[in-house]
Amino acid sequence: MVLATASDAAATTVADRAGEDLAGEDTGKGSGITPGLVCAHHHLYSTLSRGMPSPPRTPSNFSEILELVWWRLDRVLDLEMVRWSAMLGALEALQAGTTVIVDHHSSPNAIDGSLDVIADACAEVGIRALCCYEVTDRNGPGAVEAALAENRRFLEAGGQGMVGAHACFTLSQSTLEAVAGLADSLGVGVHIHVAEDKVDSGAGGRLEGIAKPDWLLAHCVHLDRPLPGMVVHNPRSNQNNAVGYASPSRFSNPVLLGTDGIGADMLEEFRIAYARLREDDVTAIPAVPWQWLENGWRLAPIALSDQVRWNYAPIDPWHLAFTPTVRPLEVVVDGEVVLRDGRPVRVDEQEVRSKAREQQARLFARLETL
Ligand SMILES: [Zn+2]
Repeated sequence: MVLATASDAAATTVADRAGEDLAGEDTGKGSGITPGLVCAHHHLYSTLSRGMPSPPRTPSNFSEILELVWWRLDRVLDLEMVRWSAMLGALEALQAGTTVIVDHHSSPNAIDGSLDVIADACAEVGIRALCCYEVTDRNGPGAVEAALAENRRFLEAGGQGMVGAHACFTLSQSTLEAVAGLADSLGVGVHIHVAEDKVDSGAGGRLEGIAKPDWLLAHCVHLDRPLPGMVVHNPRSNQNNAVGYASPSRFSNPVLLGTDGIGADMLEEFRIAYARLREDDVTAIPAVPWQWLENGWRLAPIALSDQVRWNYAPIDPWHLAFTPTVRPLEVVVDGEVVLRDGRPVRVDEQEVRSKAREQQARLFARLETL
């Protein structure tokens, strides 16, 4: 795949390009082809949360968003809800051309076996998942042991993924060391939220000397020092939580793109990443966030063997940054067509959506009783 280079693109304004290349557009049968896209930071367990009952009061900062929204939601999840949340999330990922989801899971009252449920749901739909379970001290020592055990059990059984950790501000030093030690012993990295908000601004100091190049560092908005690892930028989630701009161009680490649970439409996340980058620097070009998207293949090179045929060509950052209607027509994973004419082949879309709605109703009913 050949993309416009940064120097090519910088010399040409959007207005200059508005009248050219349109002959390359082919919305009828499509001819733009890419490998499968990678969502480098997702929370499939949040898929059913759309439209959830309002929290007891309006959260006014990031800590309250966690306490009043997400930490109430994850506590009421059972494995059936986890399954259909993952099925719907995987379906929508496939329909957006995303064939690898790097998931970060939490269901503190349904820990054991949860990673298998997510991996199996993704496989059933026909996409790939790199799973982890979120270790945190916020649910007490029993939950720490169960979370570590779930990561170990899943990975030792051949599951694909990493060891998960919430964030330094909910991890004691001994728990953080246990996470790092487990990852070391299993030969994988740690997938952890890093300095997403000011409340976790001490993360850099905590992780210095512990983090390694195979760690996945989500957010890094307030990271105050270099750390080894891959940085995952989640532009829309960061805006939604008003935690600030991560300025990912400042990192020398590989920067990847994630959604932090708001779907898995990576072309959309690329466009948002571009808009946010541009707001910060009007000379910035879309080749920069496109590179962040492509860096997903460094983390999950298996996606390079997948193929997505889009309803649009050319696959060019300047085009895609300004074309919000680009959708996959066909997706091939592991040699198998899993999306044809925009529809999933392995599962019935209406059935998945219907089952997900049933579980969503159960979830909302439980939230109402909290
Ligand atoms: Zn996250």
